Amino acid sequence: MVRFFLERDRVADLVKHLMERRTVYAPHRKGRRSFAFARTADPAAVVLDYPRTLHSVKKFFLPPREELLRFDLTDDTFAAGEPEPSGAAFLGVHSYDVAAVRRLDHNFSAGNAERNYLVRRQGAVFIGVGFEPDKFHFSGSVGIEPDDTAGCDAFLTKLLDGYVLEILTPTGRELLKGLELPPYEGNDPPAHPFQQHIYVPQSRLGRIMDKSYEHPVWAEASRTCVGCGTCNLVCPTCYCFDVQDHVDITATGGSRERTWDGCMLRGFSEVAGGEVFREGLPERQRHRVLRKFKYLSDTTGVPWCVGCGRCTAACPAGISIANIVNRLVGDAERTPVAPI
Ligand code: SF4
Ligand code: SF4
Repeated sequence: MVRFFLERDRVADLVKHLMERRTVYAPHRKGRRSFAFARTADPAAVVLDYPRTLHSVKKFFLPPREELLRFDLTDDTFAAGEPEPSGAAFLGVHSYDVAAVRRLDHNFSAGNAERNYLVRRQGAVFIGVGFEPDKFHFSGSVGIEPDDTAGCDAFLTKLLDGYVLEILTPTGRELLKGLELPPYEGNDPPAHPFQQHIYVPQSRLGRIMDKSYEHPVWAEASRTCVGCGTCNLVCPTCYCFDVQDHVDITATGGSRERTWDGCMLRGFSEVAGGEVFREGLPERQRHRVLRKFKYLSDTTGVPWCVGCGRCTAACPAGISIANIVNRLVGDAERTPVAPI
């Protein structure tokens, strides 16, 4: 592993270097306290020290709205959209968001591979950055530490006066070639502790979830829930979508569009005939949590929640997925589950 020292005043040099070689997406200030990944036009606008972005980098590979195809009703033909490989440098990505992309890679590759996502993922380079956990992050509890470099081509770790820049892959080395930086020979910066935790590992959560299907926490957590779906829409590992055909006003053609959807929304489980098979908020809440800690995790062994804390930070009712899981854990501890 090669490590360099990047002085704080030279962060803009790093961004410029990347912009000369690739399209760069990085965190930018959005509001007084919010941040968003956006295409970088001004190196000085990049913010590397931020708690979390509104959305993850998922939006560049799975856009919130995309046209899948256009159809022509006059001759019954269609033309599918042609997504472009991103080939971009994603700078300043937190470890949990890179982990989320790796989970989405699994979702969109396993079984019937999904072309649009996989094409957009091609050539993406990740330059991660460490973060200081706030009261919402709990990624350490799902095995993702702030300085976890998995999936990154290079990684920045904050120091008082700059960053340690680690080059991790040949792609990272090639991309950063020519950026003259002194080597870093100091100690590893101290790790920042998490304030929020889930109290048992995934290896025990699946069994706990098995016992919790009728638990009162689902109804309790739903008392203040308004079913807005924000928790789904900000989640970096949620990947459900809706597909709708829109016929042009001339009725000669139209388009097929895909848009993000979320299991907390009533319409998500509405089927032909108007039946809604998860009508109640408790059932939707349970489904959301089991999607993160059981259904996919039982087959892959890893939680599908990466502990970013976005769903709690953005929830208008302050509903915390970590608190829901810990409530289940606490009750299961009082009624011990059989050893695995
Ligand atoms: S963001 Fe909060 S209020 Fe909205 S659906 Fe999710 S849990 Fe319910
Ligand atoms: S469930 Fe919540 S904490 Fe977990 S990855 Fe999704 S948004 Fe982040």
